Amino acid sequence: MSSLWEQRAARNEALFREVNENIARLEERHGTTETEPVYVCECADAVCTEQLAIEPETYRRVREEPRLFFMRPGHEDPQLERVVERHAGYLVVEKTGEAGRVAEQT
Ligand SMILES: [Zn+2]
Repeated sequence: MSSLWEQRAARNEALFREVNENIARLEERHGTTETEPVYVCECADAVCTEQLAIEPETYRRVREEPRLFFMRPGHEDPQLERVVERHAGYLVVEKTGEAGRVAEQT
């Protein structure tokens, strides 16, 4: 496995995390909505468009840790990350190795 590929995958995930941060900020500005905010899957696949319903408390708690990402079950890559939590409809994964370092720097 090339470390270049690993870095690119990590950057994709960081990009999706940025999208989700914008969603979270909008959510806070508009106050509570009836439906749960919908976030995007943060897996390494740049064309993945899966959506995740994440409880706001869980989102904020996980977001405080730069190595943690949300994704659809089955989208995790054991070479990049390990699953730390399983929820209904989504996983919380922790970046390992090079991907973890990139995630912390982005
Ligand atoms: Zn995905």
